[in-house]
Amino acid sequence: MSGKEATAPYIVQGRLYVPYFNYYGALASEFYRQLRDSKKIMGVKCPSCDKVYMPPRSVCAVCFGNLNQLVEVSTQGAVLTYTVIHYTYSPSYQPATIPYAYGIIQLDGADTGFCHLLGEVDLDRLSIGMRVEAVFKDQREGNILDIKYFRPVQK
Ligand SMILES: [Zn+2]
Repeated sequence: MSGKEATAPYIVQGRLYVPYFNYYGALASEFYRQLRDSKKIMGVKCPSCDKVYMPPRSVCAVCFGNLNQLVEVSTQGAVLTYTVIHYTYSPSYQPATIPYAYGIIQLDGADTGFCHLLGEVDLDRLSIGMRVEAVFKDQREGNILDIKYFRPVQK
């Protein structure tokens, strides 16, 4: 054995199967339940400063108050910023075929933005402030991809 082989990292490939259960907590559980069963998007409103967070969180980032008042927000909103993905990094984890776009979307009635896919859109015509609306899957499972993507609002 040469000196180079003797010091080379010894690598073993394998695949782990790790079943697990994850409790989302009361707020996120209701958020996903409403998304799945009613195609409603819920935020949480701070009773002290009225800030509405979507997705819901349990503590206000402004006043540190405890949050538990779920409120329905619109399925429409505005693109705060976006990016277009042009490379494949892991086909099994990428939700679309390149090129595709992610946007940070602030829904009407919410004070915060969240990241989701943009679809049915000419990627060269994306713009900040563009009005978009949620497109829901027909068969929803109670996860964020129950919203397939956001598309420009149909006029
Ligand atoms: Zn607050």
